[in-house]
Amino acid sequence: MKKISLLGATGSIGIQTLDVIREHPEEFSLAALSAGRNIPLCRKIISEFHPEFVSVKNKEDAEALRAEFPGTVFSYGPDGLQEAAVYYKTDILVNAVLGSVGLSPTLEAIKLGRPVAIANKETLVTAGHLVMEAAKQHGTQIIPVDSEHSAIFQALQGEREKNIERLVVTASGGSFRDRCRNELANVTVKEALNHPNWSMGAKITIDSATMMNKGLEVIEAHWLFSMPYEKISVLLHKESIIHSMVEFHDSSIIAQLGTPDMRVPIQYALSYPDRMPLPSGKRLRLEEIGKLHFAEMDFDRFRCLRFAYEAGKTGGTMPSVMNAANEVAVAAFLEGRIKFLEIEDLIEKALIAHKSSANPDLETIQAADSETRKFVKSLV
Ligand code: NDP
Ligand code: MG
Repeated sequence: MKKISLLGATGSIGIQTLDVIREHPEEFSLAALSAGRNIPLCRKIISEFHPEFVSVKNKEDAEALRAEFPGTVFSYGPDGLQEAAVYYKTDILVNAVLGSVGLSPTLEAIKLGRPVAIANKETLVTAGHLVMEAAKQHGTQIIPVDSEHSAIFQALQGEREKNIERLVVTASGGSFRDRCRNELANVTVKEALNHPNWSMGAKITIDSATMMNKGLEVIEAHWLFSMPYEKISVLLHKESIIHSMVEFHDSSIIAQLGTPDMRVPIQYALSYPDRMPLPSGKRLRLEEIGKLHFAEMDFDRFRCLRFAYEAGKTGGTMPSVMNAANEVAVAAFLEGRIKFLEIEDLIEKALIAHKSSANPDLETIQAADSETRKFVKSLV
């Protein structure tokens, strides 16, 4: 029985992780979780899974829940998130929290040598060097949850790093893949949230539409697989059936295919190196799909992808600045305060205004993150 600590249990990845646990009651149990502000859902999860430790965002919510569930230990805020991540009875951490709040809890779990199944992109984007260095130092396994990185991770099983020619990250193109740039000026939040293939949280769905999601994934891939940016390419693949691939020196390409269902990579991260059936999952029937399409990525159409490569190559605090600017800009777009294309403009302004510090420690990263948030908020 693997005991799981799940950060972000009330989110899109969190809920799908709970589905996987529910399908395998003999193999997995939920020992600790964190939620943000969705207390009704948190309450339901506690009633069903009986975790021993729960952290929520606000103190008042923690106190109210404590009175309701006397058998459970409650905490709150960033400290609570950290306590949930390192809860002493868990075997693996699933980090599915949204945003850069996920960084410190990941680092703490790594220091304990606890395997981390990582969905929270912002952690690797903002502090990939610290995360991978700590994982190396403590011998901690980092297992990707994001479908693209899970695909690459699977394709690399049994392969040697020195044989890799390049990583090919596939991109669906998001909600506006069939529109040109000048058709994007007045798109609505509702249109942007309508992803053709995947059902995901709001922020990442907007990131898919701007292609920032792919940019973040390129930076994640750089750290997870210690691959230079020149050896990571992005390929448009609108069906989201090939989740990513690895090309080797002998020109062989190994790809991982599957239906667009995040529960598959989540489950693989939990069961790794084993595989298990996913009874409620849908099998991939290529004969029904018939054709798969591929196209070259257009960096002028999707400026955020260009920003990400540039920020990644500059390194230091630049990716943190890009990420923080993006988080603020996307939130402003979701609140209806800026237009879709202004997301890109705000990120660009933040990148231009910032002077990157090389090899930043956690404090420097957090300072760059909060300065950027302030700066971008002032522009909104
Ligand atoms: P959601 O917005 O659906 O869920 C986010 C979760 O984090 C919720 O449980 C939320 O709590 C919690 N949360 C948010 N802010 C805070 C905070 N300040 N303190 C504590 N908890 C907080 O996001 P997703 O599940 O879509 O994404 C989660 C992460 O996984 C992101 O980094 C995303 O990029 C990545 N990812 C997502 C994929 C997907 O398919 N959705 C695919 C690959 C990666 P509450 O709702 O209770 O407030
Ligand atoms: Mg992805």
